[in-house]
Amino acid sequence: MKLDTIAVLGGGPGGLYAARLLKKSHPDATVTVYEQGVGDQTFGFGVGLASRTQRNLRDADEASLSAIVDAALPHEMSMKVGDDEVRLAHGELLAIGRATLLSVLQRFAVEAGVELRFGERRAVTEVDADLIVAADGINSATRTASADQFRPSIVEGEGLYLWCGTDFQLPSAVFTPATTEHGTFVAHAYPYAADRSTFLIETDEQTWKRAGFDVSTEQTPAGETDQTSLDYLQEAFAEPLHGHKLIGNRTKWLRFRTVRCESWHAGNVVLLGDAAHTAHYSIGSGTKLAMEDAIALDRALLANDDLESAFAAYEVERRPAVEHLQSIAERSMVWWDEFPYRIDMPVAQLMIGYMTRAGKVSLERFAETAQTIVRDGLAAFAGCAAADVPASSEVTEWVLTQAQSVPESAVDVEVGDRPWSVEVRKLLADLPLSDAYRLTGSDEREAVLDRLDVAELIRRRGASVVVEVPAELRADAAAAVASERVDGVVFTGAGLT
Ligand SMILES: Cc1cc2nc3c(=O)[nH]c(=O)nc-3n(C[C@H](O)[C@H](O)[C@H](O)COP(=O)(O)OP(=O)(O)OC[C@H]3O[C@@H](n4cnc5c(N)ncnc54)[C@H](O)[C@@H]3O)c2cc1C
Repeated sequence: MKLDTIAVLGGGPGGLYAARLLKKSHPDATVTVYEQGVGDQTFGFGVGLASRTQRNLRDADEASLSAIVDAALPHEMSMKVGDDEVRLAHGELLAIGRATLLSVLQRFAVEAGVELRFGERRAVTEVDADLIVAADGINSATRTASADQFRPSIVEGEGLYLWCGTDFQLPSAVFTPATTEHGTFVAHAYPYAADRSTFLIETDEQTWKRAGFDVSTEQTPAGETDQTSLDYLQEAFAEPLHGHKLIGNRTKWLRFRTVRCESWHAGNVVLLGDAAHTAHYSIGSGTKLAMEDAIALDRALLANDDLESAFAAYEVERRPAVEHLQSIAERSMVWWDEFPYRIDMPVAQLMIGYMTRAGKVSLERFAETAQTIVRDGLAAFAGCAAADVPASSEVTEWVLTQAQSVPESAVDVEVGDRPWSVEVRKLLADLPLSDAYRLTGSDEREAVLDRLDVAELIRRRGASVVVEVPAELRADAAAAVASERVDGVVFTGAGLT
Protein backbone atom coordinates (compact mmCIF):
# COMPACT_ATOMS: atom_id res chain seq x y z
CA MET A 1 0.00 0.00 0.00
CA LYS A 2 1.29 3.46 -0.86
CA LEU A 3 1.38 5.80 2.14
CA ASP A 4 2.80 9.33 1.79
CA THR A 5 2.27 10.64 5.30
CA ILE A 6 2.13 8.78 8.60
CA ALA A 7 1.51 10.53 11.92
CA VAL A 8 2.15 8.76 15.19
CA LEU A 9 0.55 10.25 18.31
CA GLY A 10 2.68 9.33 21.32
CA GLY A 11 6.39 8.66 21.64
CA GLY A 12 6.19 5.75 24.09
CA PRO A 13 7.70 2.37 23.20
CA GLY A 14 4.76 1.45 20.95
CA GLY A 15 4.73 4.69 18.97
CA LEU A 16 8.50 4.94 18.53
CA TYR A 17 8.90 1.33 17.49
CA ALA A 18 5.95 1.56 15.08
CA ALA A 19 7.41 4.73 13.56
CA ARG A 20 10.74 3.05 12.89
CA LEU A 21 9.24 -0.08 11.36
CA LEU A 22 6.79 1.92 9.23
CA LYS A 23 9.50 4.27 7.94
CA LYS A 24 11.65 1.30 6.98
CA SER A 25 8.72 -0.31 5.14
CA HIS A 26 7.61 2.96 3.48
CA PRO A 27 10.89 4.81 2.91
CA ASP A 28 9.27 7.51 0.77
CA ALA A 29 6.66 8.39 3.37
CA THR A 30 7.03 11.21 5.87
CA VAL A 31 6.73 9.63 9.32
CA THR A 32 6.27 12.03 12.24
CA VAL A 33 5.99 11.17 15.93
CA TYR A 34 4.25 13.76 18.12
CA GLU A 35 5.17 13.41 21.79
CA GLN A 36 3.67 15.75 24.35
CA GLY A 37 6.56 15.22 26.78
CA VAL A 38 9.94 16.80 26.41
CA GLY A 39 13.35 15.20 25.90
CA ASP A 40 14.27 12.49 28.31
CA GLN A 41 11.49 13.10 30.84
CA THR A 42 9.05 10.27 31.26
CA PHE A 43 6.96 8.56 33.90
CA GLY A 44 7.88 5.38 35.76
CA PHE A 45 11.17 3.64 36.44
CA GLY A 46 12.48 0.37 35.03
CA VAL A 47 10.33 -2.11 33.14
CA GLY A 48 10.84 -5.85 33.01
CA LEU A 49 11.26 -7.53 29.63
CA ALA A 50 10.50 -11.24 29.40
CA SER A 51 12.71 -13.33 27.17
CA ARG A 52 9.94 -14.08 24.69
CA THR A 53 9.73 -10.40 23.92
CA GLN A 54 13.27 -10.57 22.81
CA ARG A 55 12.70 -13.37 20.30
CA ASN A 56 9.81 -11.55 18.62
CA LEU A 57 11.65 -8.26 18.58
CA ARG A 58 14.79 -9.90 17.25
CA ASP A 59 12.89 -11.33 14.31
CA ALA A 60 11.35 -7.95 13.52
CA ASP A 61 14.38 -5.70 14.00
CA GLU A 62 17.60 -7.24 15.23
CA ALA A 63 19.53 -3.96 15.54
CA SER A 64 17.17 -2.17 17.92
CA LEU A 65 16.68 -5.28 20.02
CA SER A 66 20.42 -5.77 20.44
CA ALA A 67 20.72 -2.17 21.59
CA ILE A 68 17.86 -2.66 24.07
CA VAL A 69 19.41 -5.83 25.47
CA ASP A 70 22.82 -4.14 25.75
CA ALA A 71 21.26 -1.32 27.79
CA ALA A 72 19.23 -3.67 30.01
CA LEU A 73 20.25 -5.47 33.18
CA PRO A 74 19.69 -9.20 33.77
CA HIS A 75 18.54 -10.33 37.20
CA GLU A 76 17.45 -13.34 39.21
CA MET A 77 14.29 -13.55 41.23
CA SER A 78 13.61 -14.04 44.93
CA MET A 79 10.72 -14.04 47.36
CA LYS A 80 11.26 -13.07 50.97
CA VAL A 81 8.86 -13.13 53.89
CA GLY A 82 10.55 -12.24 57.18
CA ASP A 83 13.75 -14.28 57.26
CA ASP A 84 12.40 -16.98 54.96
CA GLU A 85 13.75 -16.48 51.43
CA VAL A 86 13.93 -18.48 48.22
CA ARG A 87 15.90 -17.55 45.16
CA LEU A 88 15.10 -18.61 41.66
CA ALA A 89 17.86 -18.67 39.07
CA HIS A 90 15.72 -17.71 36.10
CA GLY A 91 18.34 -16.65 33.62
CA GLU A 92 15.91 -14.97 31.25
CA LEU A 93 14.76 -11.89 33.15
CA LEU A 94 15.86 -8.47 32.00
CA ALA A 95 14.89 -4.97 33.05
CA ILE A 96 15.58 -1.59 31.50
CA GLY A 97 14.93 1.96 32.61
CA ARG A 98 11.94 3.38 30.78
CA ALA A 99 13.92 6.51 29.94
CA THR A 100 16.80 4.40 28.58
CA LEU A 101 14.44 2.27 26.50
CA LEU A 102 12.87 5.38 25.04
CA SER A 103 16.22 6.94 24.21
CA VAL A 104 17.29 3.77 22.38
CA LEU A 105 14.03 3.69 20.44
CA GLN A 106 14.23 7.42 19.68
CA ARG A 107 17.74 6.92 18.28
CA PHE A 108 16.62 4.06 16.05
CA ALA A 109 13.55 5.96 14.87
CA VAL A 110 15.66 8.96 13.91
CA GLU A 111 18.22 6.72 12.23
CA ALA A 112 15.44 5.29 10.05
CA GLY A 113 14.39 8.81 9.03
CA VAL A 114 11.49 9.45 11.42
CA GLU A 115 10.86 13.02 12.53
CA LEU A 116 10.41 13.31 16.32
CA ARG A 117 8.50 16.33 17.59
CA PHE A 118 8.71 16.68 21.37
CA GLY A 119 6.54 18.95 23.45
CA GLU A 120 3.74 18.64 20.88
CA ARG A 121 0.47 17.20 22.05
CA ARG A 122 -1.80 16.48 19.09
CA ALA A 123 -5.36 15.31 18.62
CA VAL A 124 -6.38 13.27 15.58
CA THR A 125 -8.27 16.29 14.26
CA GLU A 126 -5.09 18.37 14.34
CA VAL A 127 -3.02 16.20 12.03
CA ASP A 128 -3.36 15.59 8.34
CA ALA A 129 -1.92 12.22 7.33
CA ASP A 130 -2.80 9.16 5.26
CA LEU A 131 -2.42 7.02 8.38
CA ILE A 132 -2.66 8.06 12.01
CA VAL A 133 -1.27 5.65 14.60
CA ALA A 134 -2.69 6.50 18.02
CA ALA A 135 -0.10 5.21 20.47
CA ASP A 136 -1.15 7.74 23.09
CA GLY A 137 -1.10 5.42 26.07
CA ILE A 138 -3.53 4.26 28.72
CA ASN A 139 -5.26 7.66 28.93
CA SER A 140 -5.60 7.81 25.14
CA ALA A 141 -7.55 10.93 24.20
CA THR A 142 -8.02 9.39 20.74
CA ARG A 143 -9.85 6.43 22.28
CA THR A 144 -12.01 8.71 24.40
CA ALA A 145 -12.83 11.14 21.59
CA SER A 146 -14.11 8.33 19.34
CA ALA A 147 -15.45 6.05 22.05
CA ASP A 148 -18.51 5.32 19.95
CA GLN A 149 -16.28 3.68 17.33
CA PHE A 150 -13.61 2.04 19.51
CA ARG A 151 -16.18 1.00 22.14
CA PRO A 152 -13.76 0.75 25.07
CA SER A 153 -14.40 -0.91 28.42
CA ILE A 154 -12.20 -0.06 31.37
CA VAL A 155 -12.15 -2.15 34.55
CA GLU A 156 -10.39 -0.86 37.65
CA GLY A 157 -8.52 -3.27 39.91
CA GLU A 158 -9.39 -3.43 43.60
CA GLY A 159 -5.90 -2.87 44.97
CA LEU A 160 -3.74 0.23 44.78
CA TYR A 161 -0.16 0.56 43.57
CA LEU A 162 2.61 3.11 43.79
CA TRP A 163 5.36 3.07 41.13
CA CYS A 164 8.57 4.22 42.84
CA GLY A 165 12.25 3.56 42.53
CA THR A 166 15.37 3.49 44.64
CA ASP A 167 18.90 4.70 44.03
CA PHE A 168 20.86 1.46 44.21
CA GLN A 169 21.05 -1.83 42.35
CA LEU A 170 19.20 -4.55 44.25
CA PRO A 171 21.10 -7.86 44.20
CA SER A 172 18.09 -9.54 42.52
CA ALA A 173 14.41 -9.01 41.96
CA VAL A 174 12.51 -9.46 45.20
CA PHE A 175 8.87 -9.84 46.10
CA THR A 176 8.50 -9.01 49.73
CA PRO A 177 5.74 -7.86 52.09
CA ALA A 178 6.00 -5.32 54.91
CA THR A 179 3.35 -5.41 57.60
CA THR A 180 2.74 -2.24 59.58
CA GLU A 181 0.13 -1.28 62.15
CA HIS A 182 -2.15 -0.38 59.22
CA GLY A 183 -1.89 -3.60 57.22
CA THR A 184 0.30 -5.27 54.63
CA PHE A 185 2.14 -3.67 51.71
CA VAL A 186 3.88 -5.78 49.09
CA ALA A 187 6.89 -4.71 47.05
CA HIS A 188 7.77 -5.94 43.57
CA ALA A 189 11.31 -4.71 43.24
CA TYR A 190 14.01 -5.34 40.65
CA PRO A 191 17.26 -3.74 39.56
CA TYR A 192 17.45 -2.11 36.12
CA ALA A 193 20.69 -0.09 36.21
CA ALA A 194 23.91 0.10 38.24
CA ASP A 195 22.34 2.77 40.47
CA ARG A 196 18.61 2.16 40.11
CA SER A 197 15.89 -0.35 40.96
CA THR A 198 12.17 -0.29 40.44
CA PHE A 199 10.29 -0.49 43.73
CA LEU A 200 6.61 -0.97 43.02
CA ILE A 201 4.41 -1.22 46.09
CA GLU A 202 0.84 -2.48 46.35
CA THR A 203 -1.77 -2.62 49.04
CA ASP A 204 -5.48 -3.12 49.58
CA GLU A 205 -7.97 -0.29 49.97
CA GLN A 206 -8.52 -0.76 53.72
CA THR A 207 -4.80 -0.64 54.52
CA TRP A 208 -4.39 2.34 52.20
CA LYS A 209 -7.13 4.23 54.01
CA ARG A 210 -5.96 3.23 57.51
CA ALA A 211 -2.52 4.62 56.66
CA GLY A 212 -4.14 7.90 55.61
CA PHE A 213 -3.09 7.56 51.99
CA ASP A 214 -6.54 8.40 50.67
CA VAL A 215 -5.87 11.83 52.17
CA SER A 216 -2.27 12.15 50.94
CA THR A 217 -3.37 11.07 47.44
CA GLU A 218 -6.05 13.74 47.46
CA GLN A 219 -3.57 16.36 48.64
CA THR A 220 -0.87 15.60 46.06
CA PRO A 221 -1.18 18.02 43.14
CA ALA A 222 -1.34 16.52 39.63
CA GLY A 223 2.11 15.76 38.25
CA GLU A 224 3.76 15.67 41.70
CA THR A 225 4.86 12.87 44.03
CA ASP A 226 3.01 11.76 47.15
CA GLN A 227 5.98 12.25 49.48
CA THR A 228 3.96 11.34 52.60
CA SER A 229 3.48 7.83 51.28
CA LEU A 230 7.08 7.53 50.16
CA ASP A 231 8.40 8.54 53.60
CA TYR A 232 6.14 6.04 55.35
CA LEU A 233 7.00 3.18 52.97
CA GLN A 234 10.69 3.92 53.09
CA GLU A 235 10.56 3.09 56.76
CA ALA A 236 8.30 0.07 56.29
CA PHE A 237 10.66 -1.37 53.65
CA ALA A 238 13.88 -0.22 55.35
CA GLU A 239 15.33 -3.75 55.27
CA PRO A 240 14.98 -4.58 51.56
CA LEU A 241 15.93 -0.97 50.81
CA HIS A 242 19.15 -1.44 52.80
CA GLY A 243 18.55 2.00 54.26
CA HIS A 244 18.27 3.68 50.83
CA LYS A 245 15.61 6.20 49.89
CA LEU A 246 12.50 5.60 47.87
CA ILE A 247 12.32 8.03 45.00
CA GLY A 248 9.26 9.22 43.13
CA ASN A 249 8.63 10.36 39.60
CA ARG A 250 5.19 11.94 39.56
CA THR A 251 4.39 8.99 41.85
CA LYS A 252 0.89 8.65 43.23
CA TRP A 253 -1.31 5.77 44.33
CA LEU A 254 -3.36 4.42 41.44
CA ARG A 255 -5.65 1.52 40.69
CA PHE A 256 -4.64 -0.50 37.67
CA ARG A 257 -7.05 -0.13 34.77
CA THR A 258 -7.54 -2.96 32.32
CA VAL A 259 -8.53 -1.47 28.97
CA ARG A 260 -10.27 -3.40 26.21
CA CYS A 261 -11.73 -2.04 22.98
CA GLU A 262 -14.22 -3.74 20.70
CA SER A 263 -12.52 -2.11 17.72
CA TRP A 264 -8.98 -0.83 17.34
CA HIS A 265 -9.55 1.26 14.24
CA ALA A 266 -11.80 3.97 12.91
CA GLY A 267 -11.33 5.58 9.49
CA ASN A 268 -7.59 6.11 8.98
CA VAL A 269 -6.84 5.94 12.72
CA VAL A 270 -5.51 2.82 14.42
CA LEU A 271 -4.94 2.26 18.14
CA LEU A 272 -1.77 0.58 19.33
CA GLY A 273 -0.33 -0.46 22.71
CA ASP A 274 -1.89 0.78 25.94
CA ALA A 275 -4.32 2.96 23.99
CA ALA A 276 -5.97 -0.23 22.71
CA HIS A 277 -5.44 -2.61 25.63
CA THR A 278 -3.61 -2.97 28.93
CA ALA A 279 -2.46 -5.96 30.96
CA HIS A 280 -1.66 -5.83 34.67
CA TYR A 281 1.97 -4.88 35.34
CA SER A 282 2.64 -8.00 37.43
CA ILE A 283 3.19 -10.02 34.25
CA GLY A 284 5.51 -7.32 32.86
CA SER A 285 4.08 -7.43 29.34
CA GLY A 286 2.67 -4.00 28.46
CA THR A 287 5.78 -2.85 26.62
CA LYS A 288 6.05 -6.15 24.80
CA LEU A 289 2.41 -5.98 23.73
CA ALA A 290 2.78 -2.43 22.44
CA MET A 291 5.91 -3.29 20.45
CA GLU A 292 4.41 -6.49 19.09
CA ASP A 293 1.36 -4.50 17.97
CA ALA A 294 3.75 -2.31 15.99
CA ILE A 295 5.25 -5.38 14.30
CA ALA A 296 1.81 -6.74 13.37
CA LEU A 297 0.56 -3.37 12.13
CA ASP A 298 3.61 -2.89 9.93
CA ARG A 299 3.19 -6.36 8.42
CA ALA A 300 -0.54 -5.92 7.87
CA LEU A 301 0.02 -2.61 6.06
CA LEU A 302 2.57 -4.25 3.78
CA ALA A 303 0.36 -7.22 3.02
CA ASN A 304 -2.87 -5.37 2.22
CA ASP A 305 -3.99 -2.89 -0.44
CA ASP A 306 -6.17 -0.62 1.66
CA LEU A 307 -6.26 0.60 5.24
CA GLU A 308 -9.53 -1.10 6.15
CA SER A 309 -8.23 -4.56 5.15
CA ALA A 310 -4.88 -3.91 6.80
CA PHE A 311 -6.50 -2.85 10.08
CA ALA A 312 -8.77 -5.88 10.00
CA ALA A 313 -5.75 -8.16 9.45
CA TYR A 314 -3.89 -6.41 12.28
CA GLU A 315 -6.74 -7.06 14.69
CA VAL A 316 -7.15 -10.67 13.58
CA GLU A 317 -3.48 -11.29 14.29
CA ARG A 318 -3.19 -9.39 17.57
CA ARG A 319 -6.47 -9.97 19.36
CA PRO A 320 -5.94 -13.62 20.37
CA ALA A 321 -2.47 -12.92 21.79
CA VAL A 322 -3.63 -9.78 23.58
CA GLU A 323 -6.73 -11.40 25.04
CA HIS A 324 -4.72 -14.42 26.18
CA LEU A 325 -2.23 -12.21 28.01
CA GLN A 326 -5.01 -10.07 29.45
CA SER A 327 -6.64 -13.09 31.03
CA ILE A 328 -3.30 -14.25 32.43
CA ALA A 329 -2.73 -10.72 33.70
CA GLU A 330 -6.13 -10.55 35.34
CA ARG A 331 -5.48 -13.78 37.22
CA SER A 332 -2.08 -12.51 38.21
CA MET A 333 -3.62 -9.29 39.52
CA VAL A 334 -6.09 -11.23 41.64
CA TRP A 335 -3.24 -13.41 42.96
CA TRP A 336 -1.33 -10.32 44.07
CA ASP A 337 -4.44 -8.76 45.59
CA GLU A 338 -4.69 -11.85 47.77
CA PHE A 339 -0.99 -11.96 48.66
CA PRO A 340 -1.30 -10.57 52.21
CA TYR A 341 -3.46 -13.55 53.16
CA ARG A 342 -0.71 -15.96 52.24
CA ILE A 343 2.20 -14.51 54.14
CA ASP A 344 2.10 -17.26 56.75
CA MET A 345 2.73 -19.84 54.06
CA PRO A 346 6.31 -21.18 53.84
CA VAL A 347 8.04 -19.19 51.11
CA ALA A 348 8.88 -22.23 48.95
CA GLN A 349 5.19 -23.10 48.81
CA LEU A 350 4.35 -19.47 48.13
CA MET A 351 6.78 -19.55 45.22
CA ILE A 352 4.88 -22.55 43.79
CA GLY A 353 1.72 -20.47 44.01
CA TYR A 354 3.44 -17.52 42.36
CA MET A 355 4.91 -19.48 39.46
CA THR A 356 1.69 -21.35 38.71
CA ARG A 357 -0.68 -18.46 39.48
CA ALA A 358 -1.65 -17.61 35.94
CA GLY A 359 -1.71 -21.07 34.35
CA LYS A 360 1.39 -20.40 32.24
CA VAL A 361 3.78 -22.69 34.14
CA SER A 362 2.71 -26.12 35.35
CA LEU A 363 3.78 -27.62 38.65
CA GLU A 364 5.69 -30.33 36.81
CA ARG A 365 7.57 -27.89 34.62
CA PHE A 366 8.43 -25.73 37.60
CA ALA A 367 9.61 -28.86 39.45
CA GLU A 368 11.95 -29.66 36.55
CA THR A 369 13.59 -26.24 36.67
CA ALA A 370 13.56 -25.56 40.43
CA GLN A 371 13.80 -28.95 42.10
CA THR A 372 14.77 -27.81 45.58
CA ILE A 373 12.15 -25.08 45.84
CA VAL A 374 9.36 -27.36 44.64
CA ARG A 375 10.48 -30.20 46.93
CA ASP A 376 10.52 -27.87 49.93
CA GLY A 377 7.22 -26.28 48.94
CA LEU A 378 5.45 -29.59 48.42
CA ALA A 379 6.89 -30.98 51.64
CA ALA A 380 5.41 -27.98 53.46
CA PHE A 381 2.08 -28.56 51.71
CA ALA A 382 1.96 -32.27 52.54
CA GLY A 383 3.58 -32.03 55.97
CA CYS A 384 6.28 -34.55 55.05
CA ALA A 385 10.04 -34.54 54.64
CA ALA A 386 11.43 -33.06 51.42
CA ALA A 387 13.01 -36.45 50.68
CA ASP A 388 9.52 -38.00 50.49
CA VAL A 389 8.43 -35.73 47.64
CA PRO A 390 8.61 -37.70 44.36
CA ALA A 391 10.44 -36.79 41.16
CA SER A 392 9.09 -33.96 39.00
CA SER A 393 7.29 -36.30 36.58
CA GLU A 394 5.17 -37.66 39.46
CA VAL A 395 4.31 -34.51 41.38
CA THR A 396 0.95 -33.88 39.71
CA GLU A 397 -0.57 -37.20 40.72
CA TRP A 398 1.15 -37.16 44.11
CA VAL A 399 -0.42 -33.80 44.96
CA LEU A 400 -3.83 -34.88 43.70
CA THR A 401 -3.88 -37.94 45.96
CA GLN A 402 -3.69 -35.53 48.88
CA ALA A 403 -6.56 -33.31 47.75
CA GLN A 404 -9.70 -33.45 49.88
CA SER A 405 -12.87 -35.12 48.72
CA VAL A 406 -16.20 -33.26 48.52
CA PRO A 407 -17.69 -32.64 51.95
CA GLU A 408 -21.29 -33.85 52.21
CA SER A 409 -22.46 -30.39 53.16
CA ALA A 410 -21.02 -28.83 50.00
CA VAL A 411 -23.38 -26.42 48.24
CA ASP A 412 -23.09 -26.20 44.44
CA VAL A 413 -22.23 -22.76 43.08
CA GLU A 414 -21.96 -22.06 39.38
CA VAL A 415 -19.19 -19.63 38.45
CA GLY A 416 -19.75 -17.78 35.16
CA ASP A 417 -17.03 -16.88 32.65
CA ARG A 418 -14.68 -13.99 33.43
CA PRO A 419 -15.94 -13.60 36.98
CA TRP A 420 -13.66 -10.70 37.93
CA SER A 421 -14.42 -7.33 39.47
CA VAL A 422 -18.12 -6.62 39.65
CA GLU A 423 -19.20 -10.20 39.00
CA VAL A 424 -16.92 -11.72 41.60
CA ARG A 425 -18.08 -9.30 44.27
CA LYS A 426 -21.67 -10.12 43.44
CA LEU A 427 -20.94 -13.84 43.50
CA LEU A 428 -19.33 -13.57 46.93
CA ALA A 429 -22.15 -11.40 48.25
CA ASP A 430 -24.83 -13.83 46.99
CA LEU A 431 -23.11 -16.99 48.23
CA PRO A 432 -25.57 -19.21 50.11
CA LEU A 433 -24.51 -19.78 53.70
CA SER A 434 -22.49 -22.99 54.04
CA ASP A 435 -19.21 -24.32 55.40
CA ALA A 436 -18.41 -26.04 52.11
CA TYR A 437 -18.87 -25.31 48.41
CA ARG A 438 -18.47 -27.16 45.16
CA LEU A 439 -17.77 -24.78 42.26
CA THR A 440 -19.04 -25.76 38.84
CA GLY A 441 -19.04 -24.07 35.43
CA SER A 442 -17.73 -24.29 31.90
CA ASP A 443 -15.06 -26.81 30.85
CA GLU A 444 -13.06 -24.15 28.99
CA ARG A 445 -9.59 -23.93 30.49
CA GLU A 446 -9.81 -20.18 31.07
CA ALA A 447 -13.07 -20.66 32.97
CA VAL A 448 -11.58 -23.50 35.03
CA LEU A 449 -8.55 -21.38 35.97
CA ASP A 450 -10.85 -18.54 36.97
CA ARG A 451 -12.91 -20.96 39.06
CA LEU A 452 -9.81 -22.15 40.89
CA ASP A 453 -9.04 -18.51 41.74
CA VAL A 454 -12.57 -17.82 42.91
CA ALA A 455 -12.19 -20.89 45.16
CA GLU A 456 -9.33 -19.19 46.95
CA LEU A 457 -11.43 -16.09 47.62
CA ILE A 458 -14.15 -18.27 49.14
CA ARG A 459 -11.63 -20.27 51.19
CA ARG A 460 -10.54 -16.99 52.80
CA ARG A 461 -13.94 -16.94 54.50
CA GLY A 462 -13.11 -20.15 56.30
CA ALA A 463 -15.20 -22.46 54.10
CA SER A 464 -13.85 -25.54 52.41
CA VAL A 465 -14.00 -25.47 48.61
CA VAL A 466 -13.78 -28.14 45.94
CA VAL A 467 -13.84 -27.32 42.25
CA GLU A 468 -15.07 -29.31 39.27
CA VAL A 469 -12.26 -29.68 36.76
CA PRO A 470 -12.25 -31.59 33.45
CA ALA A 471 -9.97 -34.61 33.82
CA GLU A 472 -7.56 -33.35 31.16
CA LEU A 473 -6.76 -30.30 33.29
CA ARG A 474 -5.20 -32.34 36.09
CA ALA A 475 -2.03 -30.24 35.98
CA ASP A 476 -3.95 -27.03 36.69
CA ALA A 477 -5.84 -28.75 39.50
CA ALA A 478 -2.62 -29.99 41.10
CA ALA A 479 -1.04 -26.54 41.02
CA ALA A 480 -4.11 -25.05 42.74
CA VAL A 481 -4.17 -27.78 45.40
CA ALA A 482 -0.42 -27.49 46.10
CA SER A 483 -0.69 -23.74 46.55
CA GLU A 484 -3.80 -24.08 48.73
CA ARG A 485 -6.08 -22.13 46.44
CA VAL A 486 -8.55 -24.97 46.71
CA ASP A 487 -9.09 -27.86 49.13
CA GLY A 488 -10.04 -30.48 46.58
CA VAL A 489 -11.07 -31.17 43.01
CA VAL A 490 -13.73 -33.29 41.38
CA PHE A 491 -12.73 -34.52 37.96
CA THR A 492 -15.35 -34.58 35.24
CA GLY A 493 -15.63 -35.77 31.65
CA ALA A 494 -13.75 -38.22 29.44
CA GLY A 495 -10.41 -39.51 30.63
CA LEU A 496 -11.67 -39.62 34.19
CA THR A 497 -9.66 -41.91 36.41
C1 LIG B 1 3.21 0.42 37.44
C2 LIG B 1 3.48 -0.09 36.08
C3 LIG B 1 4.53 -0.98 35.89
C4 LIG B 1 4.78 -1.49 34.62
N1 LIG B 1 5.78 -2.38 34.45
C5 LIG B 1 5.98 -2.92 33.25
C6 LIG B 1 6.98 -3.89 33.04
O1 LIG B 1 7.70 -4.29 33.96
N2 LIG B 1 7.13 -4.40 31.80
C7 LIG B 1 6.36 -4.00 30.77
O2 LIG B 1 6.54 -4.49 29.64
N3 LIG B 1 5.42 -3.08 30.91
C8 LIG B 1 5.19 -2.54 32.12
N4 LIG B 1 4.22 -1.61 32.29
C9 LIG B 1 3.38 -1.24 31.14
C10 LIG B 1 4.06 -0.29 30.20
O3 LIG B 1 4.50 0.85 30.89
C11 LIG B 1 3.07 0.10 29.11
O4 LIG B 1 2.32 -0.99 28.71
C12 LIG B 1 3.81 0.64 27.89
O5 LIG B 1 4.51 1.80 28.23
C13 LIG B 1 2.84 0.93 26.75
O6 LIG B 1 3.48 1.61 25.72
P1 LIG B 1 2.69 2.64 24.81
O7 LIG B 1 3.70 3.13 23.84
O8 LIG B 1 1.46 2.01 24.31
O9 LIG B 1 2.19 3.79 25.77
P2 LIG B 1 3.02 4.78 26.73
O10 LIG B 1 4.31 4.20 27.13
O11 LIG B 1 2.08 5.20 27.79
O12 LIG B 1 3.32 6.02 25.80
C14 LIG B 1 2.33 6.90 25.39
C15 LIG B 1 3.00 8.22 25.07
O13 LIG B 1 2.08 9.06 24.41
C16 LIG B 1 2.26 10.38 24.86
N5 LIG B 1 0.99 11.04 24.54
C17 LIG B 1 -0.23 10.80 25.06
N6 LIG B 1 -1.17 11.53 24.45
C18 LIG B 1 -0.53 12.26 23.51
C19 LIG B 1 -0.96 13.19 22.52
N7 LIG B 1 -2.24 13.49 22.39
N8 LIG B 1 -0.04 13.77 21.74
C20 LIG B 1 1.27 13.47 21.88
N9 LIG B 1 1.74 12.59 22.78
C21 LIG B 1 0.85 11.99 23.57
C22 LIG B 1 2.60 10.23 26.33
O14 LIG B 1 3.28 11.34 26.82
C23 LIG B 1 3.47 8.98 26.30
O15 LIG B 1 4.83 9.29 26.15
C24 LIG B 1 3.96 -1.09 33.53
C25 LIG B 1 2.92 -0.18 33.71
C26 LIG B 1 2.67 0.31 34.99
C27 LIG B 1 1.54 1.28 35.19
